[in-house]
Amino acid sequence: MTTAPVRPQQVTTGPIQGSAKAWIEGPDGITVPVRRISLSHGEHHDVYDTSGPYTDSRATVDLHAGLPRLREPWVTSRGPGTQRSWARAGIVTPEMAYIAVRERCDAELVRAEVARGRAVIPANRNHPECEPMIIGKRFLTKVNANIGNSAVTSSIAEEVEKMVWATRWGADTVMDLSTGRDIHETREWILRNSPVPIGTVPIYQALEKCDGDPASLTWEIYRDTVLEQCEQGVDYMTVHAGVLLRHVPLTAKRVTGIVSRGGSIMAAWCLAHHAESFLHTHFDELCAILRRYDVTISLGDGLRPGSIADANDEAQLAELATLGELTRIARGHDVQVMIEGPGHVPMDKIVENVRLEEEWCDEAPFYTLGPLATDIAPGYDHITSAIGAARIAEAGTAMLCYVTPKEHLGLPDRDDVKVGVISYKIAAHAADLAKGHPHAQARDDALSRARFEFRWRDQFALSLDPDTATAYHDETLPAEPAKTAHFCSMCGPRFCSMRITQDVRDYAEAHGLTSVEAIEAGMAEKSGESRDEGGRVHLPISATD
Ligand code: SF4
Repeated sequence: MTTAPVRPQQVTTGPIQGSAKAWIEGPDGITVPVRRISLSHGEHHDVYDTSGPYTDSRATVDLHAGLPRLREPWVTSRGPGTQRSWARAGIVTPEMAYIAVRERCDAELVRAEVARGRAVIPANRNHPECEPMIIGKRFLTKVNANIGNSAVTSSIAEEVEKMVWATRWGADTVMDLSTGRDIHETREWILRNSPVPIGTVPIYQALEKCDGDPASLTWEIYRDTVLEQCEQGVDYMTVHAGVLLRHVPLTAKRVTGIVSRGGSIMAAWCLAHHAESFLHTHFDELCAILRRYDVTISLGDGLRPGSIADANDEAQLAELATLGELTRIARGHDVQVMIEGPGHVPMDKIVENVRLEEEWCDEAPFYTLGPLATDIAPGYDHITSAIGAARIAEAGTAMLCYVTPKEHLGLPDRDDVKVGVISYKIAAHAADLAKGHPHAQARDDALSRARFEFRWRDQFALSLDPDTATAYHDETLPAEPAKTAHFCSMCGPRFCSMRITQDVRDYAEAHGLTSVEAIEAGMAEKSGESRDEGGRVHLPISATD
């Protein structure tokens, strides 16, 4: 007996605590949304906003109608081509102009990086609801969140809510990795309601059409699946065309073999037919299809290492070299290309991955899954992988695919999605800081000032997850006066070092001293008092009101 799919009725809407949707005016009538955090001292701080109309208190959300078709006039007013072909022709498209406002950079930088192939703009002409974004190492590091049902769990309604939920917390793209029932309809709901680019792995749906038997796959089934997804509006597709017959034996002695779903499917096909993968032999034809819709190709790492023991091994690097050859073929079709990367890699081997990818794949944007820097913490792999993700992004990776606490253990639910996204926003931002991105530090500085000045509500609002920050604070000090108190429950009022520092500064101002002199004077004063009182320990400046 089959049951009707649970279709979405509603999703999470409303502004994130402490902020509101605002709009920045760009050229030619372009308006770009930001999340505006209004601070208690009258200033505001704008942050990059991936959440679409769902966080706009004035927007009406109708899931059945889908989001406004922002790009429709741009798409219909121009002929065939891709963002790459237009960039190479010296044209700044409306998408590029939009991205320049979003990234606070020159539109010429956007055009030049796309033309060079060092950045991609995943934007299928059939996904007009998508707010344009860019993936490239000269821009903010991006985060992808995977969603999708499996044969055993989840509904369409849950997956649409996960998409909205992931973008609420900062996911820049979402991959729909559905493998269960209702794949087409699930994707349709997601696409029509997604403000961010949607990626897929078409081989999953193709395999469903073959009742899960890899040997029954054919180029024709795969091609028709790709066409179906292009027509729907998928913005980028993972294609495991780098898994070659001769690569498969290289995995024989691995601890964890082939861990990529797409990689194992194609390896099984190659072995069953003792032939080269149809993804590889029909690659030109595939590129010609993707070009028509301007779908970005994400060359999958089907032989990525699935354990620390297998990191940077022969199989992984042989595939990476093949991906370099495919990059040049795709670019010959003016198809935009990015390269997927590992996996599980110890810290000392991470940078080598970026170096080789840039060298062999002509600096195509690198898109990595983590990598997990250790294998020993199932249940905490959002952390093991965020460590590797920060390192690899600092070295030049353009987009990080998140990992949730459920990795290796089960399908993530809504809570796991949020933890995964926030973990990866931390990794991405830490990398942007380390790379010296011109606008990255402003938010740290604003939050640090709020923290030092005990503007608790500003500190919450500026944080990546205001709800959790507020809840943790209020767990011990829930009363309203605590929101302006010059301490929290961590050190308590007498030992609050930031309050003591402020006392030092007040002392300095009152006595006309520099802070260094004030500290010495305060210390001398207190040490005298201490001797007088029999050597009891005091703070340098009294922490009383
Ligand atoms: S009590 Fe400690 S943790 Fe809390 S604000 Fe003061 S210095 Fe920071």
